[in-house]
Amino acid sequence: MSAAIMDGKAVSALVRREVKERAALLASKGVKPGLAVVLVGDDPASQVYVRQKEKACDEVGFASFMRYLPASTDEKELLDLIDGLNSDPAVHGILVQLPLPKHIDKDRVAEAIRPEKDVDGFHPINVGRLTLGIETMEPCTPKGIVYLLEHYGIDIEGKRAVVVGRSNIVGKPVSLLLLSRNATVTVCHSRTKDLPDVTRQADILVAATGKPKTIGSSMVKGGAVVVDVGITRTQSGLIGDVDFDAVKEVASYITPVPGGIGPMTIAMLLLNALKAAEACASSSMRR
Ligand code: NAP
Repeated sequence: MSAAIMDGKAVSALVRREVKERAALLASKGVKPGLAVVLVGDDPASQVYVRQKEKACDEVGFASFMRYLPASTDEKELLDLIDGLNSDPAVHGILVQLPLPKHIDKDRVAEAIRPEKDVDGFHPINVGRLTLGIETMEPCTPKGIVYLLEHYGIDIEGKRAVVVGRSNIVGKPVSLLLLSRNATVTVCHSRTKDLPDVTRQADILVAATGKPKTIGSSMVKGGAVVVDVGITRTQSGLIGDVDFDAVKEVASYITPVPGGIGPMTIAMLLLNALKAAEACASSSMRR
């Protein structure tokens, strides 16, 4: 039997509706959530992502502060801009679109954003809190993965989860989120020996390699839940890391590409920005 589709587009629409309602409530109390998005350079894929974020902000009633900087911008100029956004009370969340030009140190940029405005969850303080299991701003893609699993009633506790990919923005944090929900987690990467042997043990398999068709049907246990994070642009459109047509015949649940984790990531960004605005509103009420 073919796997059930975990429909990130539909679930993200539900999240956006909730965000819109909570944003309206906040606005009625005089606080309009504001998200700043900074793009340095003219990478075409980044331009698409930034436009999607601006549109998403408009749809839920956020103020968006778009900052487009040329590729020649030096690090100090970018850090100065972030400083200004940090101290702007209308801006509750700040996101700097990656990748940055090579002459800018992305770690320094991540550290420059005030942790409470760090809606990407990349600041070392937020990463540390995530690692320690303390309430924090969770990074959007990993948060979207777990949100989608929970929406579909997938039990994580006690399950064997295998994450393929160990990046700071997807692989490592999603491993931590799954661990925090009591999965037994294995993290794989390009030096993992006998990858199929490991992935076949997964009850929940998350693929985040950026390499199309890394995961074929012979690598998936019957009935496993498969999450495809990968996005590769090809002439025929976006494709994921999972051989969808073959794997859907083996898995119990699967995410499509597009329409899976991509829309969930944007929805979680809105949720994080809303959370930042709500926290700001309640702390100003206490003052
Ligand atoms: P990344 O930084 O390039 O990391 C890729 C990871 O996959 C690395 O840990 C790498 O191992 C591992 N890997 C690569 N090839 C492998 C193979 N054949 N077998 C096992 N492991 C392999 O990428 P990323 O930023 O995590 O993104 C991963 C994918 O997700 C990309 O396609 C990206 O576009 C997509 N993405 C999607 C969203 C979304 O919203 N849907 C958000 C973020 C990222 P090493 O560490 O050993 O090199």
